[in-house]
Amino acid sequence: MCTHAPNKDPQMTITHYERTREQNIDLGIVAEGAEEEAAEEEVLGVKSKDFDSTQEVMHFPANCPRCNVPCETNMKVVNIPHFKEVVIMATNCESCGHRDNEVKSGGGMEAKGRKISLRIENRDDMSRDILKSETCSVMIPELDFETEMGTLGGKFTTVEGLLEDFKTQLKETNPFMIGDSSTPERSGKLGDFCKELDLIVQGEKNGVHFILDDPAGNSYIQSLTAPDPDAQLTIEDYERSFEQNEDLGLNDMKTENYEEN
Ligand SMILES: [Zn+2]
Repeated sequence: MCTHAPNKDPQMTITHYERTREQNIDLGIVAEGAEEEAAEEEVLGVKSKDFDSTQEVMHFPANCPRCNVPCETNMKVVNIPHFKEVVIMATNCESCGHRDNEVKSGGGMEAKGRKISLRIENRDDMSRDILKSETCSVMIPELDFETEMGTLGGKFTTVEGLLEDFKTQLKETNPFMIGDSSTPERSGKLGDFCKELDLIVQGEKNGVHFILDDPAGNSYIQSLTAPDPDAQLTIEDYERSFEQNEDLGLNDMKTENYEEN
């Protein structure tokens, strides 16, 4: 106890020091792992809220796909709970600002195709994690909307993130929205469609179905009640058709195996 207060006590030495990260965590100033998670979200361009962060982010030299300036590609193996391991690859170009991320399935194709249907009931459904593999197509039957297999490549994002990506892509690539080729009827329809997507994102259009159909079985929508069944999710595993095997290049592989045998 200091008996000379407020004067300096010659028997006491006070040393100021920077708190360590562990001390900050003990003090509740920093949530454990929060800094690393924020840094990973930054370099990977995805929210790493619900998967383990035990694997390091790896960095590779690459070239920007837009401006071709040397930049870094960041890669991380991620274990999605109740699903499987995937590889997230992200490129962030400091020169032109291009940001992109892509997801590759870690372990090849499943024996069956998988169709996952989410019945959207409220705004919370927008923040469900989804993995849309590079072979997956997306449907919203109530909006008469269906993408081709592989549209937008492999993505690890949220329901909202993917709907926003569709809007962006439709506006950028739909020729009916641009310049002289625009016709009132077509651009009007696309505008209406984007408005419908906005209503879904805002939680004002419920009861619609958001469907991922992946013949390779590598896509996923986060359950909010795992490991128990989620009443809003319907999962159907199915035998691939000949055409789907053809699209995935599997018929050729079988032929080769028969020849070798
Ligand atoms: Zn660039």
